[in-house]
Amino acid sequence: MSLVPLRTLLDAAEQGKYAVGAFNCNNMEIVQAIVAAAEECRSPVILQASQGAIKYAGLDYIVAMVKAAAARATVPICLHLDHGTDFNTVVACIRAGFTSVMFDGSQYEKAENIARTKEIVKIAHAVGVSVEGEIGKIGGVEDEISVDEREAMLTPVPDAIEFFEATGVDALAMSFGTAHGPYKLPPKLALDRIAAVHEKTGAYLVMHGGSGVPEDDVRQGIALGIRKVNIDTELRQAFLGEIRQQLAAKPHEIDPRKIFAPAREVLKEHIKAKMRLFGCAGKA
Ligand SMILES: [Zn+2]
Repeated sequence: MSLVPLRTLLDAAEQGKYAVGAFNCNNMEIVQAIVAAAEECRSPVILQASQGAIKYAGLDYIVAMVKAAAARATVPICLHLDHGTDFNTVVACIRAGFTSVMFDGSQYEKAENIARTKEIVKIAHAVGVSVEGEIGKIGGVEDEISVDEREAMLTPVPDAIEFFEATGVDALAMSFGTAHGPYKLPPKLALDRIAAVHEKTGAYLVMHGGSGVPEDDVRQGIALGIRKVNIDTELRQAFLGEIRQQLAAKPHEIDPRKIFAPAREVLKEHIKAKMRLFGCAGKA
């Protein structure tokens, strides 16, 4: 199948009241694990690449790997840019064949974020590419901040509504209590904010920092309007955890394939469990 825009997957997710998993890919084995999981679960899937992944693997390699996987696949696949922070990167990804881009203008004041995001939406939509925008700052758990400070970082509901309506983005990332990286303590989600924004605007909300969020919270968030859940940290942990075990069990192994193949299998099973949790399993 050829790659599909994010909008197509999220329109279906809204109809079916589920979320589509967005999994970060950095190399061939991870791309293969994600697509194999989607095939086995009959699930639509989003493969996303961060600017770090593009720097590591190369934009051409990322696109070629995902297109090769999609060509063999029978489930719909979207290739999405995760946290694009500058105009040139976003446009380069659109030109290279991404079917969705995130423009993360959260470093700018609201008015400038809106203006810059609108410009990206205009360009992307002209060529059938979807856009995710971000209002408010989604922090990292590595940022040492207090609970009060975390509370203050939550995106005010009126800001989220204004941003969504002004920009015309297809998916909306806002700060509702999750963070990037491994959590020291389970996050406390502001479910009321998710519900308020989704009810008022119909916006498809994105859960960033989905790794390590308790399953019940994920389910509740999806019931209230989360339509895309980003998973990166857990994939890293599952993949490298198995590689560590394999290396420990086979200290004399010299064939990387003997180490990577079982790690790819463990990663695939981990992703399948996420697809069942998000409700997207069986939807393709
Ligand atoms: Zn993120």
